[in-house]
Amino acid sequence: MQQVHVPVVIIGAGIAGLWVLNRLRQKGVQAILLERTGIGGTQTMASQGIIHGGAKYVLSGKLTQAADSVAQMTEVWAQCLQGNGEIDLRAVRALSEHHYLWSLSRLTGGIKSFISAKVLNSNTNVLKAEQYPPLLRAPGFTGSICELQETVLDVPSLVRTLAMPHLNYIWQADASSEYHYDTNGALLSITLRAGDQACALTADHYVLTAGEGNESILSATGKAVPKMQRRPLQMVWLKFPDHRADGSLFLHCITSGMVPRLTITTHTDIAGKTVWYLGGGLAESGTQRSAQQQIQFAKQELAALLPWVNLADVEWGTLMIDRAEQDNGGKRPAYPGVKRLHTMLICWPTKLTLAPAMAKEVLNHLQGVSNLVQRPLPVWPTPVFAKPVWEQR
Ligand SMILES: Cc1cc2nc3c(=O)[nH]c(=O)nc-3n(C[C@H](O)[C@H](O)[C@H](O)COP(=O)(O)OP(=O)(O)OC[C@H]3O[C@@H](n4cnc5c(N)ncnc54)[C@H](O)[C@@H]3O)c2cc1C
Repeated sequence: MQQVHVPVVIIGAGIAGLWVLNRLRQKGVQAILLERTGIGGTQTMASQGIIHGGAKYVLSGKLTQAADSVAQMTEVWAQCLQGNGEIDLRAVRALSEHHYLWSLSRLTGGIKSFISAKVLNSNTNVLKAEQYPPLLRAPGFTGSICELQETVLDVPSLVRTLAMPHLNYIWQADASSEYHYDTNGALLSITLRAGDQACALTADHYVLTAGEGNESILSATGKAVPKMQRRPLQMVWLKFPDHRADGSLFLHCITSGMVPRLTITTHTDIAGKTVWYLGGGLAESGTQRSAQQQIQFAKQELAALLPWVNLADVEWGTLMIDRAEQDNGGKRPAYPGVKRLHTMLICWPTKLTLAPAMAKEVLNHLQGVSNLVQRPLPVWPTPVFAKPVWEQR
């Protein structure tokens, strides 16, 4: 069996693990990122790619800590996307420079001042009818639209941009991997297998960015460990039979309540067909429905809100998925969770948007880590890239 020692092993190649890998490699630290299934992970590839500015978190009428913490990320991402930030993300495709807030009732009129007063750095703009996204310029449209400074990213291109420069350091670690702990529950080594190869991997620090996979790594210690919570969603996607030139929508539709009634983002599948991905309140309440009931509900919502959109010959699908987060009594945590336990740093970013803030905390914990040791590494299989939800068959 090959023996490999590096200063840092990161476990889980979603946005959290990829961001930490990039930051450590920039500092010359020899870090290896392990992935069980596909690069881009579970929640990350399932996400809508919205770099939140905080607007949806002030729907309660208060400036929440969550709004404050994500609002501070807007500039960090903007700099990265322009090539001036902590990671060069110029190759990432933005699906939309703006996300829109469509108010059917409560906030109409005062919408701009409401959000501006509540969200730090917000630069919201109430649109005139002629500025609406083309699909909302229909005769039956009611309400008002506010343009939010929230970029929507193409997540597969984000994942590739983060992974490609470091592929030799991203290793396949399938379900046969074995974790070894000492009697205090400190992770000591991981045995990896690939075909007839085996590798005993050790590190000074293990960064757990395995999403809901953190839970089983922690429970195997047999000790008291930081707790994780799951908040489930049933997302819906619909694929139009072809590319819709005017079919793009990026919006939160709000009526009343703290969660948008519906959030829509628009994507393109590998055949060039337009895909709508539906989240928000529809996905939160959808966990109580079967897949068929959820599709039926989504059809009713779209018929009620956008009756002029032709949904004939549309293909439908759903995704039941858990958001894995540091335990916060079932409520959305306002900040990323980073906790030290012996050799392990346990991380949940809470939002894609918050990955840079989470990685900053990880780096603070790893300040003394050596960048001097650069041992030759064996060639180890690289995981495949995960696919978008609507390509998974
Ligand atoms: C439906 C949905 C929509 C969302 N939309 C948005 C949005 O628009 N904007 C936003 O800011 N946030 C959004 N979020 C939240 C965001 O996606 C998550 O906070 C973020 O992606 C979590 O990233 P992660 O890297 O921690 O986890 P994941 O992306 O889940 O990655 C964890 C990885 O660890 C791997 N793994 C697990 N166990 C092991 C193991 N033992 N060994 C090796 N690898 C392992 C998994 O295979 C996976 O690849 C959304 C979440 C969901 C579920």
